[in-house]
Amino acid sequence: MVTGTFRENTTMNIAITSSRLGDLHCSQCGSIHDALVRQTISTCCHAPLLCQYVIGPGSVQKSDLLLRPKSLWRYEELLPVILPENQVSLGEGFTPILALNRLASRYDLRHLSLKDEGLNPTGSFKARGLSLAVSKAKENGEKACIIPTAGNAGVAMAAYCARAGLEAVVVMPRHTPDAFKEECIGYNATLVEVDGLINNCAAKVQEINQNGAYFDVSTLKEPYRLEGKKTMGFEIAEQLNWQLPDVIMYPTGGGTGLIGIWKAFHELKMLGWLSKNQKLPRMVAVQAENCSPVVDTYWGKQANSRQYVGKPTLANGLAVPRPIGEPLMLNVLRESGGTAIAVSEDDMLEGVSELCRHEGIFVAPEGGAIWAATKKLLHQGWLQPEEHILLLNTGSGQKYLDNIKGKWVR
Ligand SMILES: *Cc1c(COP(=O)(O)O)cnc(C)c1O
Ligand SMILES: [Zn+2]
Repeated sequence: MVTGTFRENTTMNIAITSSRLGDLHCSQCGSIHDALVRQTISTCCHAPLLCQYVIGPGSVQKSDLLLRPKSLWRYEELLPVILPENQVSLGEGFTPILALNRLASRYDLRHLSLKDEGLNPTGSFKARGLSLAVSKAKENGEKACIIPTAGNAGVAMAAYCARAGLEAVVVMPRHTPDAFKEECIGYNATLVEVDGLINNCAAKVQEINQNGAYFDVSTLKEPYRLEGKKTMGFEIAEQLNWQLPDVIMYPTGGGTGLIGIWKAFHELKMLGWLSKNQKLPRMVAVQAENCSPVVDTYWGKQANSRQYVGKPTLANGLAVPRPIGEPLMLNVLRESGGTAIAVSEDDMLEGVSELCRHEGIFVAPEGGAIWAATKKLLHQGWLQPEEHILLLNTGSGQKYLDNIKGKWVR
């Protein structure tokens, strides 16, 4: 039963329904899909499905959070897992937001900070999405999961499947650094290596999973990884005392984080925890020049990325040439007044080096990319030195040593 619809935001069009089961709706036409059975993309438009919640002002108070666990499960009213015993957790989420004072003063910036997702279990924010996806797999009675991955998502899925007692198959590009592969094997996943990028891995997954024996947790082809990643948005709001930054710099691959954070801000408005007229941050999608499909579409160099051909990049997580979530990402960029920008491999390495040596944070190349992009946008005048700029570092540099070794910028 639909009791109301949140119309302010056309991307998400979050309907408020009668139950907390997290009914699913098609991101294109809104039609409802049953959350209690296995779902992939919508049957109507072949578009991603989005969870919706029944939650209005007053149903849960900010003060309730004081007693909650310091993990993403503190927001359980806005998460789709029904029974607490199905929560498959390794302590993911509630990562710190760190002020970057030394870097800020070097570059004359008033307010620069970084949310460090590298501190999550398995070393990246993929833990958030896979914690939710594997929890729902368990809740729906799945026995085995399969994933095409650029690296981090596969590691996270393998870990959460081990934790839940589910079988795991991870399909990864052969050129991915060994650290990603070894960790998957450690969690007892079956590792399949493929020549090419994540889209080639996705084709392999289709081939292996023709009979549907596995729950396919490809980005945005199941609805729950997005629900895990959106918790970054809840945390940004809560940790900054409900005062959002002016800009969020986000390293974009499949786009779940970008779309999820934006969904989260709208859910917080629905809940009354952010005021209706709270200005939302400008969302910036940062990609690698080697694989910049969203940047190219955003700037009109192509109609869409369905035929885009990408090259590998040191930031493995950004090598997603044909993201299914592109239309949703573009909406977020336009609605938020954001932009899209690509950086070179050298700029990324310089970014990693600067965050390491001036702040003591060993970010992934994806994190280096957003700092490099920040400098470019300041230079172009798109960012102002007095704005509050939040960098979202999505992973730890530790798994990328094969990529970074010997390339420190002094
Ligand atoms: C997967 C990944 C990304 C891209 O995330 P999306 O939400 O899919 O855009 C960025 N950084 C790292 C470290 C990743 O593993
Ligand atoms: Zn539809």
